[in-house]
Amino acid sequence: MSKTLVLATGNPGKVNELANMLSSLHINVVPQSDFNVTEVAETGTTFVENAIIKARHAAKITGLPAIADDSGLEVDGLNGAPGVYSARFAGAGATDQANIDKLLLELGSNPIRSARFWCVLVLMRHSDDPTPLICSASWEGEITQQQHGAGGFGYDPVFFLPALNCTSAELSKQQKNALSHRGQALQKLLHELTLKGGL
Ligand code: IMP
Repeated sequence: MSKTLVLATGNPGKVNELANMLSSLHINVVPQSDFNVTEVAETGTTFVENAIIKARHAAKITGLPAIADDSGLEVDGLNGAPGVYSARFAGAGATDQANIDKLLLELGSNPIRSARFWCVLVLMRHSDDPTPLICSASWEGEITQQQHGAGGFGYDPVFFLPALNCTSAELSKQQKNALSHRGQALQKLLHELTLKGGL
């Protein structure tokens, strides 16, 4: 029998990526929008805190197990910014383009271009789960001077992968899922879940 898991994210890019990757399991993945789960304030200062806040909120409202991801970009030339503020770097409700513009402006001609995406995934079996499953992964790259590619979302057009000689916005969905911080974190989570015998 398939079990239902709520995906605690309102970001359509992430819903697509995570739903694709989980579709092979006997887990029925439903976005939290199907349950009218309201957005919750991401008041944490770490990815782990924010992911727990979002998973707990979705589990509480739906009464179902919930997975939340919190992710962002850490840029060495900006002392780790935008970090947990990646989605709202250029202000609350900022577009991806506004965030990219601010990133390129702040980085300017700084020669330190190394950066990485981080993803923390948290699975809470119920809202009072005292032992949530927590998995994280990162994906190394460099910030370009100009945008390339139209795929993906967020900072993908300026996230250059030296080994592939392209940005993450130039990868197919499948390529990105196999390599990305989110894909890697999800693989770890699936592994942990399998070891524990499922949900
Ligand atoms: P969250 O919804 O708080 O996790 O926001 C994460 C933000 O980090 C997104 O809105 C993007 O700006 C950025 N981000 C996370 N993962 C990716 C990715 O795979 N590609 C591009 N940007 C990403």
